[in-house]
Amino acid sequence: MSIAAAIDTGGTKIVGAAVDDSGKILKEIRVPNTERDGGFILRTYMDLVKTLQEEYSITAIGIGAGGRLDEEKGTVLYAVDIYRNYIGLEIKARMEEAFGLPVRITNDCRAAVLGEQWLGAAKGCRNIFGIILGTGVGGGYYSDGRMIGGVRGGTGEIGHAILHRGGRKCLCGQQGCVEQYISGTALWSIYRERCPESQITSGYEFFELYRQGDTNAVRVLEGFVEDLAECAVNCGNLFDPEMILIGGGLSDTAEYWWEALLKTYEALGNVHTRRIPLVRAECGNRAALLGAARIAFGEWEPGSVWSW
Ligand SMILES: [Zn+2]
Repeated sequence: MSIAAAIDTGGTKIVGAAVDDSGKILKEIRVPNTERDGGFILRTYMDLVKTLQEEYSITAIGIGAGGRLDEEKGTVLYAVDIYRNYIGLEIKARMEEAFGLPVRITNDCRAAVLGEQWLGAAKGCRNIFGIILGTGVGGGYYSDGRMIGGVRGGTGEIGHAILHRGGRKCLCGQQGCVEQYISGTALWSIYRERCPESQITSGYEFFELYRQGDTNAVRVLEGFVEDLAECAVNCGNLFDPEMILIGGGLSDTAEYWWEALLKTYEALGNVHTRRIPLVRAECGNRAALLGAARIAFGEWEPGSVWSW
């Protein structure tokens, strides 16, 4: 049995786990992602792996990292977030130097899609488009058994497709990006724009208001459903996958919006997209860890793809 150190980098936390080659998570450690700094992120990765090594014989390291990456070189090409000292970070080289183990990296949202394809809702599927809803919005395009990377590491970056022209400003420099409407951050931010007196600062607080029947929260969630459905229809038309997978931390709240989403998706789509099912992720916040473990056990193929 081989054991990988798998890391998932979220907007609010960095999680490290020891994962065996059957996908069993043996131990999980969470660290708040507070400093938004490349140096902090790299130190945290190293600390997590060192801690896991105290208990397990780690044979490889897989990392789901934020931003657009050169997955072959293991470096950060571009990130829209507010991280300092992050673009250009040589994650693979620095980690390999520190541990003397093979290190592979992929985008955190792609890792989530790979995890679901390995052991979750998309198990065994050969063609998936994944929309990953978390603090931000990302995606992954898995085609004919391969995760497609893109020339600049950007394939599947649905979060920066423009959904509302001239709309909310995005950190990437565009206006009206998907991420500004259907992310956890968007839910509470849009709520605050409607209710300037509100002090909420998290998706968790937003859903507390929703559960209490707050009219504005209900309206914001209706808008979220319409935007997500539109996004899914566009992905169906663009990629023609076996399924559109909806995952990420925000999918844990799907009990509040899944039925409405299916209805709106059906209503907005065409005869073609109606044949493409929307599927809710099953692995929750373990998906990206599983995907990261999987790339640690996998092989790189030239052409910016992971394949199995
Ligand atoms: Zn954007």
